[in-house]
Amino acid sequence: MIRTHEAGTLRAEHAGQTVTLAGWVAHRRDHGGVAFVDLREASGVVQVVVRDELLTGAAGDLRAEFCVKVVGEVRLRPAGNENPDLPTGAIEVDASEVEVLSASAPLPFPVDAHAEVGEEARLRWRYLDLRRDNARGLRIRHRATRTIRRVMDERGFVDVETPYLTRSTPEGARDFLVPVRLQPGHWYALPQSPQLFKQLLMVGGLERYYQIARCFRDEDFRADRQPDFTQLDLEMSFVDEEDVYEVGEAVFRAVWKDVLDIELPQPFRRLPFTECMDRFGSDKPDLRFGLELVELSSFFAGTEVRIFAGQPYVGAVVVPGAGSWTRKQLDGWNEWARGRGAKGLAYVLVEGDGSLRGGVLNALSDGERSGLAVAAGAAPGDGVFFAAGPRREAQDLLGAFRNAAAREIGAIPEGRWEFLWVTDMPMFEPDGDGGWTAVHHPFTAPAQDRVDDFDVDPADVPARAYDIVCNGMELASGSIRIHQADVQRRVFDVIGLTPEEARSKFGFLLEAFQYGPPPHGGLAPGIDRMAALLAGTESIRDVIAFPKTSSGGDPLTGAPTPITAQQRKDAGIDATPAGLTEPS
Ligand code: ASP
Repeated sequence: MIRTHEAGTLRAEHAGQTVTLAGWVAHRRDHGGVAFVDLREASGVVQVVVRDELLTGAAGDLRAEFCVKVVGEVRLRPAGNENPDLPTGAIEVDASEVEVLSASAPLPFPVDAHAEVGEEARLRWRYLDLRRDNARGLRIRHRATRTIRRVMDERGFVDVETPYLTRSTPEGARDFLVPVRLQPGHWYALPQSPQLFKQLLMVGGLERYYQIARCFRDEDFRADRQPDFTQLDLEMSFVDEEDVYEVGEAVFRAVWKDVLDIELPQPFRRLPFTECMDRFGSDKPDLRFGLELVELSSFFAGTEVRIFAGQPYVGAVVVPGAGSWTRKQLDGWNEWARGRGAKGLAYVLVEGDGSLRGGVLNALSDGERSGLAVAAGAAPGDGVFFAAGPRREAQDLLGAFRNAAAREIGAIPEGRWEFLWVTDMPMFEPDGDGGWTAVHHPFTAPAQDRVDDFDVDPADVPARAYDIVCNGMELASGSIRIHQADVQRRVFDVIGLTPEEARSKFGFLLEAFQYGPPPHGGLAPGIDRMAALLAGTESIRDVIAFPKTSSGGDPLTGAPTPITAQQRKDAGIDATPAGLTEPS
């Protein structure tokens, strides 16, 4: 080893020892004949005192981020010069030798966790960015995946790798496609998830499979999304929901315990999807605060208020303290609602004496005026904010408002972890073209009491699908799968997949299902989001080694890049397969 000790581990008891250290120059302060150099490496920082006569030759211009080797004696710092904020603050190293292992070019930004650095620059020089906080996000992520592997192993799950070069898996996104040089005009798809393979592994008798798997989804860019991301993918045979819940909770409980030393409750709460929508206006409710939706559909049943009349749903969120919001604030919320595609956010404010004021007040009948506060559960000083329209749409708006308003009034407590299972997720949703599409994926089983008639009226059929949600974020989703050919065929019918299309897309799975597939189900927690939560960061990019920006590029490598004409030719991407009819 180049060094005898790790810099951050030196303590008073090392005083008198001669040590060899290696690391980076974090800071240098010159002080009458000596330089104080903070030497940093993964274990921490130690102060090295370098007399000027050592600062000759290559060491002459020792600057930040030079990589150096230092030999010196550990000594107690002079009384009064200790640094109680630093684990090594009782000592310093009196250098007798300084060797520059490699110099650093002038830095694009200060390598300092506290410096404000733009994200583009951080990602462009990600390796320097990692040095800034000793790759904290990656280290936390490592601890999470280490625990996951332990829990999986203890429970008899087998770690299996499935192909990255494969064919399409339906998870609702577009595929990333890879041209095949040796078969011009043919393409692999990168898997949106290992879904089909893990189901094949169940047919193969694995019974308990897991993988920390990369998934690839060509979706619109969003701040909290990466085109390639990681999930803990797991699948189990001969199970029902309870077995999957038990394993899912075991994973999160163990990770939270190991990484944060927090005991999560057991079992997690469970809320059916419709209750989540009715109470929180979201399928990923944040349970750290109240502000629940109040349904006022029957209260406004005969109303003449134009925006409420005849609407299938009228609901409200009551915000404490909003009674004193200014005109400007209220206009701001209206704008906010318009930005989400709504017509606005109707409101009424409750005065200190209980009378109402502002907003839609003038449109209310006398009866509505006198009964509203009680019906909505509003107290003096509150604001009542309404949405009306198709149930799901109006609830979505109220749910988003609930979250935003809670932030605004500071109603979200720090340090709380509100985990829950959202159960009975819907099986289908309208596809916008008069048909239906699978909400989870088309291999998800319908609720047991709807197996016979889910295809008669696909609206509101609950699936045997579940999510794990924490603090308003979806952390995992999964389902019990279909293992009967006729049920699978009827699901394909509902989503408008002809038997030929089904055969051409998933023929291999359907074929496997002819050979005694076991009942099975699984789950897929997202590792990036999990790690971001554990690291206490808003951005999953902080816990990904080389993330892409929110517009999908990687400023470090410059990917994606154009390719040359020769590369196009080699890849055969312009070729039309000879003698092949293109799939529909
Ligand atoms: N394959 C699903 C997904 O990626 C998870 C699952 O159903 O296990 O969302």
